[in-house]
This record gives sequence, structure tokens and C-alpha cells, in this order.
Amino acid sequence: MSTTWHVLGAGSLGTLWATRLARAGVPVRLIVRDEQRLQAYRAAGGLTLVEHGEAKTYDIPGETADSSEPINRLLVACKAYDAVQAVARLAPRLAPGAELILLQNGLGSQDAVAAQVSQARCISASSTEGAFRDGDWRVVFAGHGYTWLGDAGHPVAPIWLEDLAAAGIPHEWSTDILTRLWRKLALNCAINPLTVLHDCRNGGLQQHHCEVATLCAELTELLERCGQPAAAEDLQQEVERVIQATAANYSSMYQDVANQRRTEISYLLGYVCKVAARHQLNLPHLNQLKARLTAHLHSLGLPSD
Ligand code: NAP
Repeated sequence: MSTTWHVLGAGSLGTLWATRLARAGVPVRLIVRDEQRLQAYRAAGGLTLVEHGEAKTYDIPGETADSSEPINRLLVACKAYDAVQAVARLAPRLAPGAELILLQNGLGSQDAVAAQVSQARCISASSTEGAFRDGDWRVVFAGHGYTWLGDAGHPVAPIWLEDLAAAGIPHEWSTDILTRLWRKLALNCAINPLTVLHDCRNGGLQQHHCEVATLCAELTELLERCGQPAAAEDLQQEVERVIQATAANYSSMYQDVANQRRTEISYLLGYVCKVAARHQLNLPHLNQLKARLTAHLHSLGLPSD
């Protein structure tokens, strides 16, 4: 019998992983926020994944953090700002040698979680898969992509990658996961805040070429100072390529703001500005961008942390 996957968070990515693992016959248990959410989940009869326009429901057993079963493998699929608190509630249930897979975007939350559960192995993930919720307990698989997984401290791949292969989750073990996370973070900082402030799709940034170039220059300087030269390589060219290739899309931050949802700013632009300050690097345009974004979020009544 293979090890059970506990999936924390029944949102977009949590559902995308839980349903595909369950479909492959891998044991999965879903951890929801509280007793009330558990009752609602049970009443819904499971998690529904909509793929190629077809909806299928998977009756995955649910529980709350208060359940007593030990956890050996935990997929942390909540937002970055919820991760530390959510994992803290589960820490007493982690078995010796437990493994956590952290799906959070940006940087900062991974280290904060790892500091809390020193007995566990924490594996970071960077994913280009896309999904969104179109109802409670119901997720649409919107964009096929890839997930890179890695552990900056231990280069050896875990055996449970077999489960991902069986579940048809495209993935690769990465020995340079930090480079990938930093690169994605830099791309995000050069694109997402500007789409919010200019109220445009990614392609709209083609009209703001100079602003994008200035941010890329500062991000490159920061990456090099942080010992991430590979993540800095040709950053501006890649940002321009992404803007072109995703011209019709709204960025994730744009969508969060448009839907009056809290953003992950603290783990994206906020993290970058914090690290720059720690290195005593003066990056005026990134700091100004953060100030403008913070003011904009406040004007909409949204939190800026
Ligand atoms: P999401 O749809 O908002 O889902 C987060 C889920 O976590 C929600 O169901 C929420 O519960 C649950 N949660 C929060 N605190 C919890 C707790 N203490 N106990 C149990 N459940 C808890 O978020 P998402 O879009 O899947 O994003 C997750 C992470 O993946 C983010 O960092 C995001 O940036 C990243 N990511 C997402 C995508 C994507 O396409 N969606 C792609 C790449 C990366 P409630 O339902 O009760 O609120």
C-alpha cells in the first residue's frame, strides 16, 4: 500500500493534484479549514475536476487538522500567506521523516514553513499549470503545464515521484529549484504589478517598454547580488517574450485584484524589496512600484500584506 497523500487546501491547485492522484488509485485525504467546511465538503460529495469541458467528481475522504492520523506526506496547497499558520496546526501530526511539498508562489513562505517543521523534509515546487475555481469544491483545469520540484538542501529525488507519473502530473526533479523560484519571482515582479496599475492584460505592457526595462535592470542587479546569476541571465528578453506569448491573458495578480481577493504581494514584490534592503541595495523603481501597488490595494480596501 503506498503512502497516503494529505492535501492541505481544497482550492485550485489542491483539487488539481488531489483528483488526479485519486484517479490513479493513490490514497489521498483532504484537509479542510474547519468543521463547518468539512460538513459542506461532505454534503457536496467530493471534489469536482472539470477537464476538457467534462466534470467528474471524486469522493476523496476529508478531515480537519484536528484529526489524529499521522501525516507522512503533505501537499501544502494553500496561498503563501496562509501556509505558516496552516502547517503549524498540523505540525504535531507529522510523522518522523515526513515530507512536505510546498506549492506556494513567490519566495519567503517556504523558508518560514521549513523553520517551523525542522523534523520534516520540505520540497519546493514551481508550477506552470493553471486552474481556477468555478464553484465551491469545483475546479477547472485551465492550462496544461509543468511542475518542477526540488530540495535545495538534498539533491536526491524522492521515490514518490512515481505517484506523480502514475497520476499523469507532468513534473521534473530539479537540482536548481532556487534558480527556478527566483526566475519566476523576477518575471512576476516585472509583469504582474504593472498589469494591475495600468489596468491591462499582459500584452498591454508592450506600451510600457521603458518601465519594464527599468524594472528588469533592477531585478537583474538584485538576483546577481543574491548569488542567483543563472536566474538573472537575459531576464529582460524573457520578460518581453512572456509578455508577447501571454498577451491576451490577465496576470494572476490582476485577477486577484479584479475579484477583490487578497494578493500574495508580500511573497512577490514585497519579498524582493525586503531582500534588497537586507543587501543594502538601492532599487528605487522597485520600491516605488511597491509603494504605488500598496496605495492602489488600500484604495480598493484590499490588504497589502
Ligand atoms: P486557492 O484556490 O485560493 O486555494 C487555497 C485553498 O487553501 C482554499 O481552498 C483555502 O480554503 C485553503 N486553506 C487556506 N488555509 C487553510 C487551512 N488552514 N486549512 C485548510 N485549508 C486552508 O489557491 P490556489 O490558486 O490553488 O493557489 C495555491 C498556491 O499555488 C498559491 O501560492 C498560488 O500562487 C500558487 N499557484 C496557483 C496556480 C493556479 O493556477 N491556481 C498556478 C501556479 C501556482 P477555503 O476554500 O476554505 O478558503
